[in-house]
Amino acid sequence: MTDEFQWKHKELDGRKIAAGIHEETRRAVDELTERGWAPRLVSVVIGDAAAVAIYVRNQKRTAERLGIAFDERHFAEDISEAEMLAAVQAMNADPRVTGIIVQRPVPPQINIKRLQSAIHPLKDVEGLHPASVGNIVYNELDLGPCTAMASVHILKTTGLNLPGLEVVVIGHSDIVGKPIAFLLMAEGATVTVCHHRTRNLAVHSRQADAVFVAVGRPGLVTGNMIKPGACVVDIGINRVTDADGCARIVGDCDLESCREVAGWITPVPGGVGPVTVAMLMHNTIAGARRQRDFYNNAFAADAWTTGPATGPGG
Ligand code: NAD
Repeated sequence: MTDEFQWKHKELDGRKIAAGIHEETRRAVDELTERGWAPRLVSVVIGDAAAVAIYVRNQKRTAERLGIAFDERHFAEDISEAEMLAAVQAMNADPRVTGIIVQRPVPPQINIKRLQSAIHPLKDVEGLHPASVGNIVYNELDLGPCTAMASVHILKTTGLNLPGLEVVVIGHSDIVGKPIAFLLMAEGATVTVCHHRTRNLAVHSRQADAVFVAVGRPGLVTGNMIKPGACVVDIGINRVTDADGCARIVGDCDLESCREVAGWITPVPGGVGPVTVAMLMHNTIAGARRQRDFYNNAFAADAWTTGPATGPGG
């Protein structure tokens, strides 16, 4: 590999990128709170709280640092799906709750898709409701699946010009790969989506100015599959055990060989992860704003029909 590329390679620091998003979120929280629309997140844990304790603690700390109230609600391991759906409906109807997060995994009697779909789309801060995924197809990009939004935001920080950019997305899951492809298309990129049925991954990835990998297989993408100078966004999270018995978290890219070729690359951990949490907070604001606009319009419409005779048409 030439020195030029080794010199050029830049690590995309997820914590720094997240800090930039947080700054904007903090300003938006202040503005909403001043006007009486203080955002409040509710975290729903069903069953084993210890399994998700680190995630919840991290979300709580981040939310509270930004001025967003954060409530933890814990439900019994054996709660029925009907009871759980009723609990979500009650949160939907509670005007103090502006966002709902369902922590995964959930017990087997609960269908996660049905539960996620029961959350009102205006309170769907994870962006996983079918309506939220559908909205990005219609180019409404302010609230969408957090990881997909985070990954595309990271690419934007490189300064690469998205219109016409050749991008390959590896992995086509409903909540990561597909939404990434739609977000990129909305930005004008030329997008190729690869998956487990793709015949020759490298033929596609070597053409790309940017590669997104969301598969869940350590070492799937190696340096010789990357075009020199390309941006690599590694979304995979894999727990591996080294020869010495130590466990660690790695992504889907072979970091060492990719680093030598890529223009930019996200580390794992410390890349997409922190930006995903920042996007959760960003979505919280987007959802609270949509609720404010919805109720303001509803009151305006109410005034229209029941207002004084001096009103329009009166
Ligand atoms: P998924 O299991 O739903 O989908 C995996 C995708 O990979 C599928 O589209 C499949 O076709 C494709 N695939 C499988 N083998 C392949 C191969 N050999 N070549 C090409 N494509 C192949 O996974 P997901 O929920 O999208 O998650 C993917 C990874 O991203 C996981 O490691 C997960 O832990 C991680 N993840 C990270 C974050 C984050 O915040 N960083 C969030 C969600 C998921």
